[in-house]
Amino acid sequence: MSKHNVHSKDFWKLLQLRSCITTADRKVKFAPVSDIQKLWRSGWKLKGGASRFYDMFRRHQPPNYEGIKLSWEKDLGVPIDRESWEEAIKSWYTIARDMQTRLISFRILNRNYWTPVKMFRLGLRKNDMCWRCDKERGTLIHMLYECDVVHSLWVVVIQYINNALKVELRENPALCILGILQRKTGLSQQLCLWVKLALATGNRVILRHWKSKEKISFKEWRDELTKIASFEQLIYKINNKLDIFVKVWSPFLEMIGN
Ligand SMILES: [Zn+2]
Repeated sequence: MSKHNVHSKDFWKLLQLRSCITTADRKVKFAPVSDIQKLWRSGWKLKGGASRFYDMFRRHQPPNYEGIKLSWEKDLGVPIDRESWEEAIKSWYTIARDMQTRLISFRILNRNYWTPVKMFRLGLRKNDMCWRCDKERGTLIHMLYECDVVHSLWVVVIQYINNALKVELRENPALCILGILQRKTGLSQQLCLWVKLALATGNRVILRHWKSKEKISFKEWRDELTKIASFEQLIYKINNKLDIFVKVWSPFLEMIGN
């Protein structure tokens, strides 16, 4: 198990996965050989094995992305332009170095959370009201943005971002939930990345308290973002890219230093 670098509880799953891919590779004659087969046959020894694997997954978009886009447009009440949507699809992966933030962004984009409305539709709840405020229907937008319990967090987070970067972003659900920035913010690519990461952290904290009626504290968001900054610093350092870390994070580090 140590040889494969997996926890003992995951070892059986690894064997199943390995057996499944090996059998498929032997029995199914794809022509031409797929990228995943090439990588598999190389024993992951092709240059950048893990990155290639992730790239393949990223390139493989589910056929119903158009449907997801339409659902978001309906919920947000505004059309999402093509460029912003493609940026949002790409963002879940480029946004952060840690897998947890990536996973959360991916699941939000794909509307993969259990809301009161979804549970009611499936007969898992008696009504579709928000279980936090009990005043409005618990749609995805309500649960992540509109509900009183979470909205106050977004107000202060956007104020904080505006103060840190000397900009005037207007708080709205497309920005807070999907990280869709208005055009011409005047921010560098690195600072746009930080804004998206700061917003993804907002969603991460909200999801942590998915069923809580307590207002979410701004301090929790700031502490979480500080933790992410330390992790990112380490990863940028390992990759010898500390100069980029500074470009992404310096306004935030200056704010918490003061
Ligand atoms: Zn609510």
